[in-house]
Amino acid sequence: MRYPNNYITITQIFKPGHLGADLGWNSSHGGPYHDIIAIAGGVVVATTEGYNCTWPDYKSYGNYVYIDHGNGITAMYAHLKRGSVAVKRGQRVVEGQKLGQMGNSGWCIRCAVHLHFEIRKNGNKVDPIPYLRAMPNQYISDKTLIPERIKRGEEVTIKPEAADRMRDQIKVNIDNLNIRSNPYLGDNKIGMLQRGIYNVYEQRDMTHEQSNGYLWYRIADNVWCAQVNGVDFYKAELPEIVHPTELEKANQTINEMKKDFKLVFDIVNKYS
Ligand SMILES: [Zn+2]
Repeated sequence: MRYPNNYITITQIFKPGHLGADLGWNSSHGGPYHDIIAIAGGVVVATTEGYNCTWPDYKSYGNYVYIDHGNGITAMYAHLKRGSVAVKRGQRVVEGQKLGQMGNSGWCIRCAVHLHFEIRKNGNKVDPIPYLRAMPNQYISDKTLIPERIKRGEEVTIKPEAADRMRDQIKVNIDNLNIRSNPYLGDNKIGMLQRGIYNVYEQRDMTHEQSNGYLWYRIADNVWCAQVNGVDFYKAELPEIVHPTELEKANQTINEMKKDFKLVFDIVNKYS
């Protein structure tokens, strides 16, 4: 999961009495009202709007976005700029999607602009820093607190042209699947795969799973893949789902896709 903004400077750490991390801003890196983004894919659970700074009158998160990121992880993005909240309750978001702008709504000491960021694991507030990775496009300030604890991550992408070709080859199968619309999976590794440009969905039609021995995952709109033993994708019975004249071409595509997924799993395993 990436940091919730692209300029990373931790101004307040997680500690007793402050059960989240604060992130600041810099005039050379987007200024005080720069974008706050989703750390991972998820579903918006709640938002608020219309608050100004309430310090020193009363404690409040101000304008916030609260997201369920799956695997028991929820995140609070608080003190957003009034009028900036860009998502609605119930909306699905992807990693990196803009949620609003940094601001000073709610209880911000001396009304200083910052992001108050919390992660709850199974409902309990935990230190968010171990969960976050600074992606290549995210700048780490040399003024940040605890720089030694900021971990760097890697971008994971799948070649879109390969994904497009895969779509037709397996769409016959998906007609028979009962697909759960909720992208959340119990398995941590699969949950990690939600990051990046694609989402992973779980098949819940166990009858189908037993009949062909594969779990099917959605990796993008109308793009599906099968997983075997956690790493080996696309072992579906191709003659059943690809026109015979297309088989050779399909096998080439599958080998390309396997390479891509090997990359994904190498990275996932490193972080698990
Ligand atoms: Zn805070």
